[in-house]
Amino acid sequence: MTSQTEQTLLILGASGDLAGRLLVPGLGDLVASGAVEGVSLVGSAAHDWNDERWRSRVAESFAATGATGERIDAVARSTRYIKADVTAESEWRRVLDACDGSVVIYFALPPAVTERACQALTAIELPPGTRLVFEKPFGTDAAGARALNQLVTRIVPEERVFRVDHFLGTSTVMNIAGLRFANRIFEPLMSAEHVESVDIVFDETLGLEGRARYYEHAGALIDMIQSHLLQVMSVVAMDPPGTIGERDVRDAKAAILRATKVRDGDPVANSYRARYTAGEVDGRWLPSYADEDGVSGDSTTETLAEVVLEIDTWRWAGVPFRLRSGKALSNPRQEVVVTFKRAPHIPTGLTGGDHPNRLHIGIALDAGRVTLDLNMNGPGDPREIDPVTIDTGLAPGALREYGEVLRSIFAGDPILSVRGDMAVESWRIIEPVLEAWRDDRVPLEEYPAGNTGPEGWPLAGVSPPSSIAAPQRVPP
Ligand code: NDP
Repeated sequence: MTSQTEQTLLILGASGDLAGRLLVPGLGDLVASGAVEGVSLVGSAAHDWNDERWRSRVAESFAATGATGERIDAVARSTRYIKADVTAESEWRRVLDACDGSVVIYFALPPAVTERACQALTAIELPPGTRLVFEKPFGTDAAGARALNQLVTRIVPEERVFRVDHFLGTSTVMNIAGLRFANRIFEPLMSAEHVESVDIVFDETLGLEGRARYYEHAGALIDMIQSHLLQVMSVVAMDPPGTIGERDVRDAKAAILRATKVRDGDPVANSYRARYTAGEVDGRWLPSYADEDGVSGDSTTETLAEVVLEIDTWRWAGVPFRLRSGKALSNPRQEVVVTFKRAPHIPTGLTGGDHPNRLHIGIALDAGRVTLDLNMNGPGDPREIDPVTIDTGLAPGALREYGEVLRSIFAGDPILSVRGDMAVESWRIIEPVLEAWRDDRVPLEEYPAGNTGPEGWPLAGVSPPSSIAAPQRVPP
């Protein structure tokens, strides 16, 4: 669908990392694809840049993604840069005057600055149809997210607020719904009656990659589990929606998050944290996390986190949902693994068949595969059962994830964004863990970079048989 309405993408924090590395390239992808028309771009930041400097940055970002063509040149030529401190109400008028049509205001600013900018914005009349776009983290706890929700919905209604989770822009996560609901053979089995456990893992070989300023305030639990993996979990566990409209899907996901808590309400027994020490990953030497540039001497930020959750519904009661994400690990895997209970009885006389059936769904950002582990009569003795795996690739999306996210924002469809109540629930779920970690009731373990992580955790280093090793990704 081509969106032709005239609209402006206003990027606040235009000189920053997110804008240069992910947002402008995503826009390039989208414009080059022809999926939107009539979009112009305005960049703004506190930096003393001018139009020329900004245009060359935009042109570089477009070129880096291979976005070319007349539409791309038109955006790069016409884009404007407005130097402004958007925490001051008086500066907003100049910024908004540079925008045409309806405006998408993308807050690519540090979270504290975003909040102050929103406060300034409450006093300003905005062009009709203005949409506000927020990055992770949205708030710093449940109370903070609730307060931020109240603030932003004083500016525009909830349906015009987009809390970005670029994971939701990946075709693989969207594909989970297709796999579950367009096949008769999985959905009837997706319950406590047949499922032993569900693992959602995003382990990567990349280390900090110079991003201490951001990561020191986040760590693996907030950076990945609170923001992305809980969203993936809600898609894996939600009841079948009647449509894939945003209302039906987000209602179904929110119901899952509301029913989710740390297993047995015990964060000490059900959470794990660690950080890497010096080591070699993929032929690259990484210093200890504690010695990385920008990491403070008393940092307790974890680079690997694991939590075990439960979803208190009829469908899922008693099934552990284990969420894990870590950096600088030797065995990158990025997948959902549904492990089914074993067959209740294998006929006497058949041997083997003692591997559980597992459905693996890849959630790598740039590629995905689905594999299913079965027990079947293998070659040789027909009474012997061997494990086999059937395997297929998931179709890649036409756009990179930020292109997909921007497309849905321009179309005014919030399906790929996190609704306000879900942002609050995601914090509520992990808060007991954060509290236990703050009180040092869970030890901060260590693992050498390039190792599989500490032993003894539920998902420690073990890759179930057909585990999907994912290609490398650009850090989010
Ligand atoms: P950076 O620190 O690289 O950039 C911040 C930007 O904000 C700069 O352009 C800065 O401009 C601008 N800025 C700061 N204060 C003001 C102000 N008062 N008025 C106007 N502009 C201001 O941050 P990132 O780009 O890394 O991150 C931006 C947001 O995106 C954060 O919320 C982060 O959590 C989130 N995010 C970032 C990711 C990433 O990979 N970078 C991934 C996911 C989320 P100037 O330099 O001129 O002061």
